[in-house]
Amino acid sequence: MSIHGGIALDLKRLARLRYCDDVELLCTAEAGFLGQSLEDELNRRGMTLGHFPSSIYCSTLGGWIATRSAGQMSSLYGKIEDMVVAAELVLGDGQLVRCDGSSAANLLDLFLGSEGTLAVITAATLRLHRLPRHRILRGYRCASVSDGCAAIRRLMQTGLTPAVVRLYDELDSLIQTAGDQRRQGTGLPGRLLRYLFSSTGEGSRSGRQHRLLAAALSRAGMLNGVARQAVARLGNGCLLIVGTEGEPALARAMAEACHEELLSSNAIDLGPDLGDHWYQHRYAVSFKQSQLLTTGILTDTMEVAATWDNIPELYRQVRAAAGKHALVLAHFSHAYVEGCSIYFTFALPANPPREARERYDHLWHDALSAVVRSGATISHHHGVGLSKSAFMADEHGEGMALYRAAKRLCDPRGTLNPGKMGL
Ligand SMILES: Cc1cc2nc3c(=O)[nH]c(=O)nc-3n(C[C@H](O)[C@H](O)[C@H](O)COP(=O)(O)OP(=O)(O)OC[C@H]3O[C@@H](n4cnc5c(N)ncnc54)[C@H](O)[C@@H]3O)c2cc1C
Repeated sequence: MSIHGGIALDLKRLARLRYCDDVELLCTAEAGFLGQSLEDELNRRGMTLGHFPSSIYCSTLGGWIATRSAGQMSSLYGKIEDMVVAAELVLGDGQLVRCDGSSAANLLDLFLGSEGTLAVITAATLRLHRLPRHRILRGYRCASVSDGCAAIRRLMQTGLTPAVVRLYDELDSLIQTAGDQRRQGTGLPGRLLRYLFSSTGEGSRSGRQHRLLAAALSRAGMLNGVARQAVARLGNGCLLIVGTEGEPALARAMAEACHEELLSSNAIDLGPDLGDHWYQHRYAVSFKQSQLLTTGILTDTMEVAATWDNIPELYRQVRAAAGKHALVLAHFSHAYVEGCSIYFTFALPANPPREARERYDHLWHDALSAVVRSGATISHHHGVGLSKSAFMADEHGEGMALYRAAKRLCDPRGTLNPGKMGL
């Protein structure tokens, strides 16, 4: 969205694979390539980029690089910035520049995550991997968010490299396993929640359920309280999905080592079904969120990140701040040795529109203030755009002056995404 003028560019026809080599495992692709089309093209040649954002069917290579995107298998393959070796860019004055990241003296990093404010990315050279021949996924149950985070931290710090690590908080776990009768408990709050959230992701809730859910969401504080009681009563804990992939012997050995490590962290093995179910539906939920709008429910997501020591406080603070305005659920993904990302999902009523807008603005303001207060970063992989712009100065302080100087050099007339990223 352009609020300060600017130009709109559609790069989708800039979608050629200029170069691809299965010996050095590198390719050069143009920036308008749609994510899944690029991955299909590489798969036909026996390779993969290893980048699987939930938006893979609707986002482009250029957009990934411009926002430092993270895929669902980032624990093994890294984020997009780990895959980019070089980039071709057009600066604001039309100058074509090539940045080679393999040189010790390179400027590539300046442009990764610059969200179109410094240059238009037109092509990139990317590291590739041979297609994995084997994949193993498994579900585990952790008693609580803090137990689950501790288990993930230990897993990553032992040096293991699972491909997928996703921990859902108690409420999100309930929704993830909503169709699984074996994991459903009793009690009025539990039954109410299941009723509200049954068939989440399937788009098959009735009109009555939607109206009830929208009404409940308008009293978010109370609903979050009921939800907390319900999940405590159900005692289902938190669902953890762990997956490994690669050559069969390696994937199996890695899965076995992860399994042992998780059991020693008191995680309970739930078997392969939930892991396989997650894999089969791994792109489904995000795409269905916008459809909810037609039913009077607005959902949005916010991804932030922190070091492990800060994760519990970050989770608590954002939930408390956002919970006044919306129902809040979260999952923990993109795990590293030093910390991980938290992906919050908010649900709030979409009507009446003006009230919804106010509620939405308060939600973002309060949630981001909590992020900054707890010392976490405001964006892990969705970028800053407009929604998080006001908080750039809080996060980067003096660094903003450097960024402004870079903007003046790269885009002297201020044509590129004016007003974005707090500039
Ligand atoms: C359903 C859904 C699921 C999502 N899941 C994920 C996920 O799992 N992981 C994740 O990282 N993100 C996710 N996202 C967010 C988003 O898709 C990604 O951040 C993606 O990287 C953006 O790519 P895009 O092509 O859609 O860029 P756009 O949204 O079109 O643009 C994003 C920003 O980058 C700039 N930009 C785009 N292309 C270029 C270019 N060639 N040169 C310079 N600047 C450019 C734009 O101006 C804009 O500021 C999701 C989004 C949706 C809607």
